[in-house]
Amino acid sequence: VEDVSKTKSDYIRSFIFENKLMPSTWIVIRIDGCHFHRFSGVHEFEKPNDVQALNLMNACAMAVLQEFQDLVFSYGVSDEYSFVLKKNSNFYQRQASKIVSLIVSFFTSMYVIKWRTFFPQKELKYPPSFDGRAICYPSYDVLRDYLAWRQVDCHINNQYNTCFWALVKSGKSKNEAQHALKGTQSQDKYELLAHFGIDYNALNPMFRLGSSVFWEDAVGDENGSFVEPLLKRKVIIDHCNIIDKEFWDTHPSILH
Ligand code: ATP
Ligand code: ATP
Ligand code: MG
Ligand code: MG
Ligand code: MG
Ligand code: MG
Repeated sequence: VEDVSKTKSDYIRSFIFENKLMPSTWIVIRIDGCHFHRFSGVHEFEKPNDVQALNLMNACAMAVLQEFQDLVFSYGVSDEYSFVLKKNSNFYQRQASKIVSLIVSFFTSMYVIKWRTFFPQKELKYPPSFDGRAICYPSYDVLRDYLAWRQVDCHINNQYNTCFWALVKSGKSKNEAQHALKGTQSQDKYELLAHFGIDYNALNPMFRLGSSVFWEDAVGDENGSFVEPLLKRKVIIDHCNIIDKEFWDTHPSILH
């Protein structure tokens, strides 16, 4: 009976396909809220940017970095977050489906658990879900190009959305606002916002630059002689330019 059982289970196992991510590459797990256009409407997010919704996303990302220690950096904007695993990580033997499902389910349950902290007056009306995918970036330069691409996307979308909602709040219909913005260049948008008294560059850096969450070496307490040995590293959040080389030059330990 045991022999038959073993043969059978080997046969069943043979259908499992290997989905190991390429070794010695940076694995990026990007998660994105499912139908958050609707979710943000149902939960009456402030437009174009609900600060508390972004703070909630950021708090979840911090929890993810603390939970999965092989993650070295993450970048988030709107309803998405990209998590970067260190190059030589052997987390779950680099099996894509395991890593993606763990991160996306952990993030999602954090989002639900922390909802009340960020929206004490708002009931969570239905369970949010996120999709996730894994992408391998083979070199430092390509990984940096990936992150720069997400931050450029943040800028383009935020500039557009800020104009769109300024027009809508001034009394235009959504169709009219969309039509008014068709074919406009970046400079036109700066001017349109200036017309509404909005200095784009003075807006909250979290809206303009997105959020970076990463490990940083804690600096010892300079005033006291006692340095807590367990607090050598901590997860921090910043809204900085990650396109320019400067950030990476001043944080060399993140990507080694
Ligand atoms: P999909 O399931 O394909 O991702 P989606 O509706 O989530 O569909 P996205 O392209 O991911 O589409 O866009 C996210 C949407 O969520 C945007 O329409 C944006 O307006 C809204 N959203 C996300 N975060 C916020 C926020 N902090 N404040 C206001 N709106 C937000
Ligand atoms: P892994 O992360 O590798 O899956 P695991 O601890 O979840 O580790 P499993 O092989 O999945 O290991 O086993 C699930 C464990 O959860 C078992 O040890 C079992 O005792 C416990 N468990 C799950 N469901 C129940 C349940 N309904 N009642 C009691 N124990 C349960
Ligand atoms: Mg999507
Ligand atoms: Mg989405
Ligand atoms: Mg999105
Ligand atoms: Mg289990």
